[in-house]
Amino acid sequence: MNSQKSAPSRPKLVPNLSLKERNTFGFEASAELAYEITSPEHVSEVINEVLNKKLPWRVLGGGSNVILPKLLPGATLLMNIAGQEIISSDNHSVLISAGGGVNWHEFVTWTLEQNLPGLENLALIPGTVGAAPIQNIGAYGVEIGEYIESVEAFDAHSQAFTALTKEQCQLAYRDSHFKRNPNRFILTKVIFRIPKQWKARIHYADLAKQFSENPNPSPEEIFLAVCKIRTHKLPDPKLIGNAGSFFQNPIVPIEQFETLLHKYPELVSYPDAAGKRKLAAGWLIDQCGFKGQRMGNVGIYENQALVLVNHGNGTAQDILGLAKCIQEKVHDQFGVKLDIEPNIL
Ligand SMILES: Cc1cc2nc3c(=O)[nH]c(=O)nc-3n(C[C@H](O)[C@H](O)[C@H](O)COP(=O)(O)OP(=O)(O)OC[C@H]3O[C@@H](n4cnc5c(N)ncnc54)[C@H](O)[C@@H]3O)c2cc1C
Repeated sequence: MNSQKSAPSRPKLVPNLSLKERNTFGFEASAELAYEITSPEHVSEVINEVLNKKLPWRVLGGGSNVILPKLLPGATLLMNIAGQEIISSDNHSVLISAGGGVNWHEFVTWTLEQNLPGLENLALIPGTVGAAPIQNIGAYGVEIGEYIESVEAFDAHSQAFTALTKEQCQLAYRDSHFKRNPNRFILTKVIFRIPKQWKARIHYADLAKQFSENPNPSPEEIFLAVCKIRTHKLPDPKLIGNAGSFFQNPIVPIEQFETLLHKYPELVSYPDAAGKRKLAAGWLIDQCGFKGQRMGNVGIYENQALVLVNHGNGTAQDILGLAKCIQEKVHDQFGVKLDIEPNIL
């Protein structure tokens, strides 16, 4: 019997790869050197090489939260690490792991098939498992941070693999240690802790309305309701390019919120940490009359002012020009600063 370990395979390298199909805005973009990453070893190999050659680099998952330029110079790591499994279980919770390249929605579906409810409010969010902690994805009153146990990542600073606990990930609203330290961590695996005690979370307006006559829905019913609401509200990137919410909901001090509420009694907002209030960015943009407007090849979605769209042939420059216009108008009218959510690569 041959006990020798076979040498790890080299990552597949494709020069000048078009990324038009790998960014949901559908921008024309190409990667000078695209590496298909299917194992953690591929990550260390490529990063060590690009650091030695002093090449620029970045990671791309599903491309659903990025604004891509026409050319991405140097190396682009296409995160395709697959696989998910149940690691262990005790009286209270189950630990599961998933590779950085696993499709998020398929992962949520799989957890429900394993009878492990908890993630159903996050159904149909595009992208990969590895990108989920980057902006601590959230929807319908649930954030993924609640379920993360730890992540495995390659740290380009120490050039070694490391495991970060949930606390070390410093997850916050659309934010994390990874987002604040771009070009440092490449997430190869995420470990989730799913509590065995499950409770429906249907307090968000759209879900509450859906279940007004069924106060005890099953996880599957919530999953289906979330899919239905999202399909109705958000444009399908296959039909019209977009990256979901383009701006974060701004968080303002309570005094500023009260002044605004006095002037605009219809103001839509949500509770936040003590002394702060989260304003609905979509409402602010809508009030400025932007919904459905078009600026050349790009515009604001007609059913949801928070979503900017590419009508075809749009570029990163076009979308950022439109974003600036919106930011200025919202600031002039409400004195509130809007921050862009997608990552500008
Ligand atoms: C229609 C639509 C609806 C959306 N709805 C929501 C929503 O409800 N809630 C929400 O939170 N988001 C939403 N999003 C945004 C997006 O789906 C999420 O941010 C998602 O997690 C991005 O995953 P991705 O694999 O596409 O990441 P990408 O867009 O490929 O990358 C996003 C960022 O993460 C980095 N990155 C990606 N993978 C890794 C990795 N393995 N290691 C290190 N860095 C990495 C990239 O470099 C980039 O900076 C929506 C987007 C669309 C298009």
